[in-house]
Amino acid sequence: MIKIIHSDITTLPVDAIVNAANERMLGGGGVDGAIHRAAGPDLYKACLTVPEVRPGVRCPTGEARITPGYRLPARWVIHTVGPVWRGGTHGEPEKLAACYRNSLALAAEHACRSVAFPCISTGVYGYPLEPAARIAIREAREFLAHTEAQRHGEREMEVVICCFSERDFNVYNTLLTQEVSHDY
Ligand code: ADP
Repeated sequence: MIKIIHSDITTLPVDAIVNAANERMLGGGGVDGAIHRAAGPDLYKACLTVPEVRPGVRCPTGEARITPGYRLPARWVIHTVGPVWRGGTHGEPEKLAACYRNSLALAAEHACRSVAFPCISTGVYGYPLEPAARIAIREAREFLAHTEAQRHGEREMEVVICCFSERDFNVYNTLLTQEVSHDY
C-alpha cells in the first residue's frame, strides 16, 4: 500500500525512514540534518563505519546503505543519495528511480513492514517535483506489485511518502489518484 502524508519524517513510527543523504553520508542540510539531529550522535558514528567505496564516497548516487535509527522512533535509517538535477539529460531519472528501488530492496531485506521516504532530490538538489513524484510512485507500485507475487499471504509493505510541505503533499496526492484511475 502507498500512503502520502504531510509530516516531519523524523517523527514517524515506521520500521525504516529513508534519508536523502549525500555521498559522504556524514550529515548535511535539509532532511539529512533533521534526521541526524533527531537520531543523535550515534547515527554519525554509525555512518563513519560505512566503508568508503572511493575517497569521500560511502554511498554513490543511486545506491543505498542502512544503519540503525538510534533515538528515532524508526528502527532503521536507509541512506540514499539522489541525483543533483542538471536538466534531466544526465541520467537523473534513472538514478532517482534507483534510489527508490535500492532503498525498498534494503527495507525488504531487513523485514521492514513500513518504510517512509522524503521527496528525494527535490530540495537543494533541485529535481522538479512532479517528475520526481511520478518516479517515486511508479517505483513504489512496481516494487509492491513484484513483492505481492512472492508474499504467500503475508502482510503487504506500507510505503509512505512523507511530504514536508502542503504543496508537495497536494502534488503527490493528485498524481497518485491519477495513476490509480488510469489502472482501473
Ligand atoms: P535533496 O538534497 O535530496 O534535495 P533536501 O533535504 O534538500 O534533499 O530536500 C528533500 C526533501 O525533504 C524536500 O522536499 C524537503 O522539503 C524535505 N524535508 C526537509 N526536512 C524534512 C523533514 N524533517 N521531514 C520530511 N521531509 C523533509
